[in-house]
Amino acid sequence: MSDMTVERQMEQAVARLAERRSAERGESQNAGQKAETEKAEKTEKIEKTEKIEKTEKKQRPVRRSGNKNAGERSVNRNTGEKTASRGGSQPHAGRKPAERPGNRAVSEKTANRTTAEKTGGGTEKNSRSRMTGEKPAARGVNRSVRPSARAAGKAVPQDGNKPKVKIIPLGGLEQIGMNITAFEYEDTIVVVDCGLAFPTDDMLGIDLVIPDVTYLERNFDKVKGFVITHGHEDHIGALPYILQKINVPVYGTKLTIGLIENKLKEHNLMKNTKRKVVKHGQTITLGDFKLEFIKINHSIADAAALAIFTPAGVIVHTGDFKIDYTPVFGDAFDLQRFAELGKKGVLALLSDSTNATRPGFTASERTVGRTFDAIFAEHKNNRIIVATFASNVDRVQQIISSAEKYGRKVVVEGRSMVNVIGTASELGYINIPDGTLIDIDHLKNYPDEQTVLITTGSQGESMAALSRMASGMHRKVSIKPNDVVILSSTPIPGNEKAVSKVINELCMKGVEVITQDTHVSGHACQEEIKLIYSLLHPKFALPVHGEYRHLVANRSIAIAMGTPKENVLIMSSGNVVELSEDSCRVVDQVQAGGILVDGLGVGDVGNIVLRDRQNLAQNGIIIVVLTLEKYSNQLLAGPDIVSRGFVYVRESEDLMDEAKRVVDDAVADCLERNVTDWGKIKNLIRDSLSDFMWKRMKRNPMILPIIMEVS
Ligand SMILES: [Zn+2]
Ligand SMILES: [Zn+2]
Repeated sequence: MSDMTVERQMEQAVARLAERRSAERGESQNAGQKAETEKAEKTEKIEKTEKIEKTEKKQRPVRRSGNKNAGERSVNRNTGEKTASRGGSQPHAGRKPAERPGNRAVSEKTANRTTAEKTGGGTEKNSRSRMTGEKPAARGVNRSVRPSARAAGKAVPQDGNKPKVKIIPLGGLEQIGMNITAFEYEDTIVVVDCGLAFPTDDMLGIDLVIPDVTYLERNFDKVKGFVITHGHEDHIGALPYILQKINVPVYGTKLTIGLIENKLKEHNLMKNTKRKVVKHGQTITLGDFKLEFIKINHSIADAAALAIFTPAGVIVHTGDFKIDYTPVFGDAFDLQRFAELGKKGVLALLSDSTNATRPGFTASERTVGRTFDAIFAEHKNNRIIVATFASNVDRVQQIISSAEKYGRKVVVEGRSMVNVIGTASELGYINIPDGTLIDIDHLKNYPDEQTVLITTGSQGESMAALSRMASGMHRKVSIKPNDVVILSSTPIPGNEKAVSKVINELCMKGVEVITQDTHVSGHACQEEIKLIYSLLHPKFALPVHGEYRHLVANRSIAIAMGTPKENVLIMSSGNVVELSEDSCRVVDQVQAGGILVDGLGVGDVGNIVLRDRQNLAQNGIIIVVLTLEKYSNQLLAGPDIVSRGFVYVRESEDLMDEAKRVVDDAVADCLERNVTDWGKIKNLIRDSLSDFMWKRMKRNPMILPIIMEVS
């Protein structure tokens, strides 16, 4: 559940923004109505978080090849923008190990090197996120500094001349979403993912949060590109903002790029953004790195893991994954490739920790399809409405397949749903039999029992289609007592109440609501994570994508699977982790954190504005207006008191009269004493009124004196 959580909320936030933006561009003709509709859609996905620690040590040799795989076949000498296709169009066909770029970077030898320098804790200063100003708790595994440890951050002689790659997570470790990690070697920086986070409850009015990429801006010349693992908002959502500052090519698989393009269009960035579609099994060369896209499974199609071939060794980033042996679309997880990589030696593994606390395996997406079939078979006389995440194309595919099997027409409702399904269908990721899909306006032409509605709103979002249907506010569909509603999702933590509310509303209308077995996670549980460790057998483990407890759970798995404890590092955003053949540790800290986006403003809302918003929300505001004559300082009008969010004035006349007297006295006092400094006058008004309100009401409203001047 936490998996969908973020995704869902992000999508909502994004939709909200999109709505504003299009309104801004005057695109919406029917402003009111459209806004309503659009609001309804913010649906859906994203996920989680990450963290870290530090480590290092011995084990499998990864030979450094100082000059990045020279002689590699498809290396592109210049910008490295080319895609080297390894297995032809058929990702798995005819792959010969020897053809894999990067093989050479990995050493054949298996000497067991022991380097025993453990360095004490990395520098964990944490310039934590600006917006929260929170200090990062020193979490550290292995933070204990050994007596022999050298000053953190200093290169240690032994590996002084071994290639060192830096891993710099710029987000995603302290909050849900906002996954973005830079990999750096000399003049090369490659950024994996560029996601957004949804605002926490205290970020009033904030639409979304994007990562602070100051470090990348400062090192712009080195940045070769963004490599995106999949199309969820916590991995692609910040791209339209960040690309405006760091305009470098974006690489991803077809559906991922398709979803990114939807965003680029929305932000008018299509012309200026280079995109490159990469297939699973292909390798791209970016500066000193080669990155291979490896097929994995997740709750969105076309997700990839990355094998990053660096001068220090091979780093595998799993992206978000689960292992689905029977995926609905496309191939299963490329376990063979993982095994090959593992055999040759993997230096470090960054793996998805979302479900690391859950034992067992995540069920195959297909199990949900069987549930749908059973429900369809059982409810032949009802209209069926299914609410799910827009980005889960495979889920939608299964609903459509069941609908077709049972002779039902399908209506897709909700803007994000229509968008994603449109893109997926254009790109061939969903198969919609001719004549199955009908327009919502034609719904009335079919008997209820021959229709299915697929809609957004499975998280109880108040403006999403399902909630509007449930509350009777949807323009085209109203819930009928005979309907069956399937919630194909789990409530994300924090959304439980909203979901309950919708379910209650539906039940009050006599609807049967089904939630049992109608959802599976998109993230690996413990046994799947173990399989990955067992195949890759990484020397260093860097759990990512999860709340801190998830990262810790992932660490336990790594240790249980044989990774030495001191080789597991839980990172924090902004850590600069230096990775070499022999060590992995935090050596520095760069600026990192969240930038708040509110409407069209990026970064203009910070702590001070947020504090005011919180204060206003909790205490309301009292505005005192008076008019003074310019030179004489004579009171010409007022003081008048206006309040909002404080008391209902009409029923508190006595209080307001008293308040006015307090202000009158304060003003009179100032004028008598010939106080001419308006700042002082305002302060006196504020103080006296504030004292009064506290004494009378034990409340602390924001007080805003305004003095107008007439000459
Ligand atoms: Zn994610
Ligand atoms: Zn994801």
